[in-house]
Amino acid sequence: MRLELIHVGMVTTNCYLLTNEETGEAALIDPGDEADRLLACCRGRRLTAVLLTHGHFDHMMAVPKLKEAAGVRVYAPAAEAPLLMDSEENLSGSWQGRPTAFEADVLLQDGEEFDLLGTQARLILTPGHTAGSSCYYLPELGWLFSGDTLFCESYGRVDLPTAMPERIGPSVREKLLVLPQGTRVFPGHGASTDIAYERRYNPLAQGWKEDNAK
Ligand SMILES: [Zn+2]
Repeated sequence: MRLELIHVGMVTTNCYLLTNEETGEAALIDPGDEADRLLACCRGRRLTAVLLTHGHFDHMMAVPKLKEAAGVRVYAPAAEAPLLMDSEENLSGSWQGRPTAFEADVLLQDGEEFDLLGTQARLILTPGHTAGSSCYYLPELGWLFSGDTLFCESYGRVDLPTAMPERIGPSVREKLLVLPQGTRVFPGHGASTDIAYERRYNPLAQGWKEDNAK
């Protein structure tokens, strides 16, 4: 599987392009803006899936155009469906001046597994940054796409609509830091990291103990 990072939009969101080089199929994670540029990046491949970690404008504003142009299936956490359909709460209207609202095609529950370009993917619900904020874990590759929940030495803000400030610590400690320590972490903003590093240096790791790990 090939992984490419594409920075998009006004707050420099990490959009990830995954390609199965055997089949030519591709998927985008958090296409926050600049749909035309993303489609150009996908040229020569068949874009089949879009995965959303959460409903904020800077992670999903390219979706309507991608759906129109490429006919992709859009996967999102079920708990985040209300935010995707509310252009005030998802901040696309107030912050970006381009109200955007849509329904995902596939709504995923916590722990639900699905096939992503021939590899296994699992949704991990990690409320905090928003009520339905989630991560996508690809166990065969040891990759985690952590959205705005877990950043390198940091975590997502918890003062925006539907945020649950008291939940982000438990989400990170109980659902992410317990993943295998070699897991590569690809966040929604900033540098990539790994689970071993975040166990040591993330501010939310305080109170996390090694024997919590599976
Ligand atoms: Zn966000």
